[in-house]
Amino acid sequence: MAYDFDLYVIGAGSGGVRSARFAAGFGAKVAVAESRYLGGTCVNVGCVPKKLLVYGAHFAEDFEQSAGFGWTLGKADFDWATLIANKDREINRLNGIYRNLLVNSGVTLHEGHARLIDPHQVEINGQRYTARHILIATGGWPQIPDIPGREHAISSNEAFFLKELPKRILVVGGGYIAVEFAGIFHGLGADTKLLYRGELFLRGFDGAVRKHLQEELTKRGLDLQFNADIERIEKQADGSLKVTLKDGRELATDCVFYATGRRPMLDNLGLENTGVKLDKRGFIEVDEQYQSAEPSILAIGDVIGRVQLTPVALAEGMAVARRLFKPEQYRPVDYNMIPTAVFSLPNIGTVGLTEEQAREAGHKVQIFESRFRPMKLTLTECQERTLMKLVVDADTDKVLGCHMVGPDAGEIVQGLAIALKAGATKRDFDETIGVHPTAAEEFVTMRTPVAG
Ligand code: FAD
Ligand code: NDP
Repeated sequence: MAYDFDLYVIGAGSGGVRSARFAAGFGAKVAVAESRYLGGTCVNVGCVPKKLLVYGAHFAEDFEQSAGFGWTLGKADFDWATLIANKDREINRLNGIYRNLLVNSGVTLHEGHARLIDPHQVEINGQRYTARHILIATGGWPQIPDIPGREHAISSNEAFFLKELPKRILVVGGGYIAVEFAGIFHGLGADTKLLYRGELFLRGFDGAVRKHLQEELTKRGLDLQFNADIERIEKQADGSLKVTLKDGRELATDCVFYATGRRPMLDNLGLENTGVKLDKRGFIEVDEQYQSAEPSILAIGDVIGRVQLTPVALAEGMAVARRLFKPEQYRPVDYNMIPTAVFSLPNIGTVGLTEEQAREAGHKVQIFESRFRPMKLTLTECQERTLMKLVVDADTDKVLGCHMVGPDAGEIVQGLAIALKAGATKRDFDETIGVHPTAAEEFVTMRTPVAG
């Protein structure tokens, strides 16, 4: 049978665009459908605008610390509307770049909501198209628990477009988004509380990292409330919100921001017209090569719920394009040693195993740790400390994990990730000459284990 397209991609986000562009480059006839915004979550309501807001928030400490270097500044004044308008302009520019990338690589762009009609057919804007392969790359969507008053809460989707900076804000959750946005709002001057239901936020990160960040955020005056969860939210006559916690406490705020995880975006996708199956958590189930239970349908990125990071969606998109249209270049995605950063203030950067994971996996470990006041702060009042930690296998000397809390941790860990991927030992780290004076050199000068 002749199909309209070799590949029909649903979703022009990180994974979908990468797959579509490369498939077209390999000579396939490709279409991509996008219902909302070109570039997907990362470009529009994720990584990119988030990082711009983090930069914005960071100026507060730069201004404060500049006094130690002899600067006298007038009263610093911040205007939220300017930051949001400039951010929007930059995102519009990126949307245009994504459009050009697709069109210039020969991909047909369909703007609208796509729905599966059968295993080889998609409907969009009243038109039907057939395809040999269909790739679902529809991403995720914020998930807010079903509590009374949830309609008064916002998610990250709305946070990027608030008309005003709230005077008081409660951020709920203890994952990436909650920690990053608590830092943004606190840095920009909002009275910020972070509420997390467990003992300590950032479950799954190294214990020392979690504790260190808790201490640093507390030093900065961010109000961290652990073992705290919301029972209900009520709007008051003056427009403020009354929040009642499960332990009976009441808090007054102007904005409640839920960052409690993301569900797969499957709304009105027509999966019932196909044999696609979902896993226990509701994400699309795929095999090692991203094929769903329906042989003609593949899925990648956040919608499969493996690792919800842009570079992972990109790698999966590339793998699919190669497998389908350039099999001689196909290489499976390696999910080991994925580096990641939390753009809290200060940042977390991490790659490889945490101490807890290494011990649980049966490694005999040696732990190296360094805690120090960054050089830049020595002329200032700021008492912030940086943490660097190496988890080493005592038998093989291999470095199993690198963890950092401190300025530019994400930038530093990217390079270390290459070393770990290449199987570097602690001896390789020791024999590497440092770059002086930097914080990063500390990773090659830790000599004495703090724990075995
Ligand atoms: P998406 O990028 O979400 O793209 C899916 C696209 O599909 C969307 O454009 C959507 O409109 C479209 N779509 C959905 N359904 C349909 C349909 N039926 N028809 C047509 N189109 C449809 N990751 C990082 O690596 N670093 C970060 O710093 C980072 N920060 C983040 C901050 C926030 C606030 C959030 C929410 C996420 C962040 N992420 C970050 C995660 C990252 O954004 C995602 O992992 C990544 O965007 C997933 O890519 P994707 O291609 O799977 O889906
Ligand atoms: P995460 O899965 O990282 O964290 C969700 C948090 O919400 C956890 O602390 C979880 O607690 C808590 N939670 C879940 N359900 C409830 C509930 N019903 N009530 C109260 N708390 C709850 O999700 P995020 O929304 O922060 O981010 C989604 C994903 O996006 C991330 O996992 C990451 O992959 C990606 N991302 C990456 C970024 C980066 O690379 N810098 C930045 C932002 C997002 P518990 O731990 O107890 O389960």
